[in-house]
Amino acid sequence: MTIETRTICKRCVLPESRPDVWLDAEGVCNICRTYDQQKDGRSRTKLLESDFVKILSQHKSKGKYDCLVMCSGGKDSTAALYYMKKRYKLNPLAFTFDHGFETEGALENIRNAVEILGIDFLFFKSDFMKEMFLEIVKTDEKVALCHPCSIWYMGLTFEMAARYDIPLIVAGWTRGQVSQQPLASRCADKVHGSEFISMSGATQAFLDKYTRQNPKYKDFPKSMEEVVRLAGKRHKATVVSPHWFLPTDSGEYVELLQKELKWKFPPQSYPGASTNCSLNFLSVHNAMRHFGYTHYHVEMSKMIRESLLSRQEALKLLEINFGDEVLRDVMQKLSRAGGK
Ligand SMILES: [Zn+2]
Repeated sequence: MTIETRTICKRCVLPESRPDVWLDAEGVCNICRTYDQQKDGRSRTKLLESDFVKILSQHKSKGKYDCLVMCSGGKDSTAALYYMKKRYKLNPLAFTFDHGFETEGALENIRNAVEILGIDFLFFKSDFMKEMFLEIVKTDEKVALCHPCSIWYMGLTFEMAARYDIPLIVAGWTRGQVSQQPLASRCADKVHGSEFISMSGATQAFLDKYTRQNPKYKDFPKSMEEVVRLAGKRHKATVVSPHWFLPTDSGEYVELLQKELKWKFPPQSYPGASTNCSLNFLSVHNAMRHFGYTHYHVEMSKMIRESLLSRQEALKLLEINFGDEVLRDVMQKLSRAGGK
């Protein structure tokens, strides 16, 4: 697989990718420079666990469940589930969606967690997205597969929260995935910074066109903003992640999960220890070809700026660690699933 090498910012791990990311004479990117300016202007308010506890008590449900936890089986979302039950003594409903590419190891991690913690579990499996994925791949559209997928699954998550009348949605997003908006998501959208302008524009352009062509997707939202707008009309739910508030390093909770919930690392992952979806490899490969970076680069760059991760560590984690055979396997699976 050939991916062109680009010059990378000296401070974070974003490559030069115009018009969104560019490097100045000192080799530092515009996103890092903007960060510095904002930091100088106002001191950043750090999120504390007490803030999280306040949110939890404000949203504590009067119904059966206190929160809906989006659980992919990865370390971060499994830890979120664990914290809701054990640390905050809430009654969560675990929710997992599978578009057909969730790995068996991830599903086993979830099954173990809900079983051991005694948590009610909602599992939604659907082939709904496959036709769209296949179209993106076949036409080599400049769309990272994860983006329309996250639009789909966030819509689904809001729908489940509404169905069970749950006011709080808990995700396992890390601090690199914090946004200024009430809904922070890893998908490309206007709610994100300038790192995502081209990516979100490409996703939106594709969805505008494709949802008009294919009646199956005629009601598919065009952006995360639309998802949030539609969800708000039906049922108000706040989305948060405990990882934004807790100082715990993921290494610490991984140990806890391994010991208490029989949690296992995925056998193959990009970046390290995070992949629950085999389509992720294809999405990463395409994003690298089309844009020169992925949402992981954006997330890790944010963490570097906040001194939560070293640049060296991030560069190591972001090295492409999978080959063509992995992509071939995913392609085969996708073609077999095959749309129409
Ligand atoms: Zn930078």
